[in-house]
Amino acid sequence: DIVDFVKFFHRIIDRFELMKSKEVQFIRLIPPGPLYTEIDMDKMTQVIDNIISNALKYSPDGGNVRFSIIVEDERLKVAVSDDGMGIPEANVKRIFERFYRADKARSRAMGGTGLGLAIAKEMINAHGGSIWAESEEGKGTTVFFTLPFEVEEAGEWD
Ligand code: ATP
Ligand code: MG
Repeated sequence: DIVDFVKFFHRIIDRFELMKSKEVQFIRLIPPGPLYTEIDMDKMTQVIDNIISNALKYSPDGGNVRFSIIVEDERLKVAVSDDGMGIPEANVKRIFERFYRADKARSRAMGGTGLGLAIAKEMINAHGGSIWAESEEGKGTTVFFTLPFEVEEAGEWD
């Protein structure tokens, strides 16, 4: 489907903002759009759900989660950042491996299988994009992904 990614992203963020149980502030740095992308909406929803639920899971009360979209080199670059505990530098690349969890004891207490980001990587790659993370222990984590930008606005439907 050809989708306005701006509208699509806001809708997912809205859903988390209504449901969240923690005192976490959401900050959106998102251009007005529309920015068209060709995506599988169900799969992309799953990807973004996982990234946002990770950000919330590892955010302290009173923390911020920032959402941004930048248009760069005919791609959309999407980022979700948190002020959470971060990930040790040696492990940042490994979080996209299946069943990988940065801190076994801590992660087990938090729940989850360690599959979310491995699936996200598969799906983003299938969409012609890439996904990576930057993190600083004790400061926070940013997960980035890119998607090809559909310049032609072939009739949007949603
Ligand atoms: P699942 O998504 O299957 O419920 P999960 O969240 O543990 O389980 P992933 O989403 O694949 O699995 O994340 C892998 C690991 O990467 C996590 O267990 C956690 O250790 C680390 N991680 C991911 N996102 C963050 C984040 N925003 N802050 C800190 N650590 C993170
Ligand atoms: Mg997860």
